Amino acid sequence: MSGRRGIRIRTNYHTHTTRCLHAEGTDEAYVRAADAGGFGVLGFSDHSPWPYRDGFESGIRMPLSQLGDYARSVRSLREQYAGKVDVRLGLEAEYYPEFEGWLRDACREHGVSFLLFGNHFDNPGEEGYFGYASTVSDLRRYAARAEMGLSSGLFDCLAHPDLFMQGYARFDENCRAASRDVCAAARACGVPLEFNLSGFYNTWRRGAGYPAPGFWQVAAKEGVSAIVGLDAHKPARLAECEIYDLAVQHLDALGIPRVELLPAQAARPASIA
Ligand SMILES: [Zn+2]
Ligand SMILES: [Zn+2]
Repeated sequence: MSGRRGIRIRTNYHTHTTRCLHAEGTDEAYVRAADAGGFGVLGFSDHSPWPYRDGFESGIRMPLSQLGDYARSVRSLREQYAGKVDVRLGLEAEYYPEFEGWLRDACREHGVSFLLFGNHFDNPGEEGYFGYASTVSDLRRYAARAEMGLSSGLFDCLAHPDLFMQGYARFDENCRAASRDVCAAARACGVPLEFNLSGFYNTWRRGAGYPAPGFWQVAAKEGVSAIVGLDAHKPARLAECEIYDLAVQHLDALGIPRVELLPAQAARPASIA
């Protein structure tokens, strides 16, 4: 994976849809905005559904019944905008070993070509959101789950690797240790980290926020690569290219190798079970 300096092509692999219950705009509005904003690649990566066995209903992700509609809609936009914007179908998913086989099969069945690792929770019941991390034990749980997911080989990118700073008050030694663990695992597994710009818009955070300068200093030292992601929950984010371009300059200045494209996998291996 070779890093680059300066922008060759603007790409964004982190785009949501209204199916996750906390985003705005039609699917096509995101593609039109990407086209107008000069994005060559627009990856949709809405919050993955899960096949809950206990009747749990999440309020922040698409229900399982919408996965087919989501995949069809993105595939049809891919055809419609061919030659203008390279629209890709992905998902943003947590790492739950009990659902790993299901996720691999769902990706194959629906033609999902990339997966972002959105390490929001370490349990499908969504207790203890890592964005509200406030203790050392929260940081350890976050880093441990990140390491597990990274080494699963499922994911093409770790989204907002510094998510814990949304809740944690100040980047301290414990944050540094967690950051080192996450970065070392990402480097060992060859997975790029996302420099996630949505934290700039987060007005309800409890902690210092992200992108967290302390985290990215560790990342630069650990030699990981990074990709810029908007985490767009509304189409207008794709029009704000100045922030994207500043992020690129910032990563270049830190000496962090940057990737613009995630591998386009035709199909991921099916589960063995
Ligand atoms: Zn979201
Ligand atoms: Zn997201």
